[in-house]
Amino acid sequence: MNNALEPGARARATFRGRFGADPQWMARAPGRVNLIGEHTDYNAGFVLPIAIDRDCIAAAGPAPGPLSIFISADTGDTWEVDLGRWAEPEDFDAAFAPGRIHRGSWASYIYGVLRLLHARLATDSLMRPVNLVIASSVPLGGGLSSSASLEVAACLVGEQMLGMNLPGPARAALCREAEHRYAGVPCGIMDQLISVLGRENHALLIDCRDESARAIPMPPASEAVVVVMNSGVRHALAGGEYAARKAACERAAAGLGIATLREATRELLERRVHSIGEEEFRCARHIITENTRTLAAAEALARGNLAAMGRLMNESHASLRHDYRVSCPELDCLVETAQQQPGVFGARMTGAGFGGCAIALVRPEDAHAAVAATAAAYAARHGRELSAFPTSAQPGAARL
Ligand code: ADP
Ligand code: MG
Repeated sequence: MNNALEPGARARATFRGRFGADPQWMARAPGRVNLIGEHTDYNAGFVLPIAIDRDCIAAAGPAPGPLSIFISADTGDTWEVDLGRWAEPEDFDAAFAPGRIHRGSWASYIYGVLRLLHARLATDSLMRPVNLVIASSVPLGGGLSSSASLEVAACLVGEQMLGMNLPGPARAALCREAEHRYAGVPCGIMDQLISVLGRENHALLIDCRDESARAIPMPPASEAVVVVMNSGVRHALAGGEYAARKAACERAAAGLGIATLREATRELLERRVHSIGEEEFRCARHIITENTRTLAAAEALARGNLAAMGRLMNESHASLRHDYRVSCPELDCLVETAQQQPGVFGARMTGAGFGGCAIALVRPEDAHAAVAATAAAYAARHGRELSAFPTSAQPGAARL
């Protein structure tokens, strides 16, 4: 149902159809494509994402009754929520009857954002009930960060409701905290930060250690386009494997005697190779080389060296596949095929892996043929239809 067309119109129409009035507050927040720097964010490393032309829209207004009503125009389901009974994340599940909101449901992202916003007001008064509709053109669970776009859009309407206006980095941090504590997903800061701070025609080189960001100009559309290729698969082990990699990185850092793998170097890794296990070694090697590649990619992009950028993307995929082991046969098929097509500078999986999306950086005149060839290989090898679309770097979230 996740209709790529006009989420703003769908959100408004759904709101009006259900509540008989226009929404009072609306906001949009984009999904993202990470060009390079994968699994580095929770290791205090570097990432290089763009905000894309796919958004989550949140439309909201005051609710007349005691309960708040959240609706997703995409999944079609509705949650009734009592915002007068704030539950702390520790007893989140216990505080709400089954069938009501629970940890990890999409409503829990919104609930967490509103809860954390309200807590900032330091007031004894309860939050007034709200009707809130979301509609998104970001594929759900496809590695393009529908979750952060949902949080950030909800945060922006929440701020309007409560008369607040947070600085961008604080907004991103609050949204991440909601995802951690209320949705139970231990994500890094990249997705929220790029959704908030995205800049048209620019990627952001984010240093996840201090959360600072530097805008890097993207190549002009006449030279290269970013194509997103959605595998349409989502392997069930994704969540567990994410947590397992994160834990392996923490063990690796501890074994190397450093706080995070950001501080690791190849020399340190070689010197202390016997103080960590093989899994930890591979994870550390990916993070070390990926941080180096991400910095080099930012320089390559800034200089307009697309061949170098493409090579780094290819190397990133190989490292994610062989060292970090978060790719899958479907993503490998898309990436390998795309890499062989004329006009393709480079290709890699993007997002956490085990399904979701791959991206290719390709000359605009060759994009159509490259996608057609990749789709044919994908159909032949995996019997699946490829959904692909070109995208470009867009501005971050905004009130509407
Ligand atoms: P990604 O962020 O890569 O899309 P995640 O697993 O982090 O993948 O987030 C996907 C989850 O976000 C969905 O399972 C759902 O809970 C929630 N979500 C995001 N957007 C929507 C939406 N428009 N409607 C319903 N749920 C949504
Ligand atoms: Mg997400």
